[in-house]
Amino acid sequence: MPCNPGLTLVNSTVWVQTGAEFRAAALSTFAAATRSLDAALADLSWNVEEDGRSDPSQPPAIVVDSDDTVFDNTRFEVRSLKLGKTYDQDAWNAWVAEASTDAVPGAAAFLAHAKARGVTVFYVTNREAKEEAGTRQRIANLGFPLDPDVDTVLTRGERPEWTSDKTSRRELVAKNYRLILLAGDDLNDFANARDKSVADRYKIVADHEAWWGTRWFLVPNPMYGSWERPLTGGTGTPCEQVQKKIDGLKP
Ligand SMILES: [Mg+2]
Repeated sequence: MPCNPGLTLVNSTVWVQTGAEFRAAALSTFAAATRSLDAALADLSWNVEEDGRSDPSQPPAIVVDSDDTVFDNTRFEVRSLKLGKTYDQDAWNAWVAEASTDAVPGAAAFLAHAKARGVTVFYVTNREAKEEAGTRQRIANLGFPLDPDVDTVLTRGERPEWTSDKTSRRELVAKNYRLILLAGDDLNDFANARDKSVADRYKIVADHEAWWGTRWFLVPNPMYGSWERPLTGGTGTPCEQVQKKIDGLKP
């Protein structure tokens, strides 16, 4: 069978970019997040902090991931699949510099609601520190909240301890704010799921069963994510990774 890794993106990208079903799923996620935000503001004990405790006198904040949570990058995925690749670093850098990403349905209204209710919005992204300017530009262009006084765009490598594991960045926000909800498209936007097996990733989900849709809000992203790695190990050529995914499925 001839291998074109870019073709693995076709169905998922069609779904996210054109599917009414994706639109409905994203709107559902942000509608639920909006209801929970209001509930969290009325309940000072409400938080999503690691130790389950938070200073109720602190101002409220939320943490959202950027890419494919509030930013719709499907036009970048189209570039990749037309190159016959699952991902291309040079194409990504160009995409970020262009600052032309779209908004995920429901994201702008949710973020505007948070701002209107006095909640600070932090963007915890694994875009690199050097990509912060383009990212801020796009946040501003899309009309998403951007606090003028506090650095609310926390990029990977901006501080030495800010690795792709977002835990330390969530903890930093929690130090000064009552962190009330998280939104992301990847398990790592909620907990450290790096290099974990399928079973261990399921355990993270099970351990927080009551939080999904109430404190943790997932935007579906079938195009790419850390869920690929348990099957591919992150090694091998793109074509070998495609084969490992096929081999890793239950027949
Ligand atoms: Mg993301």
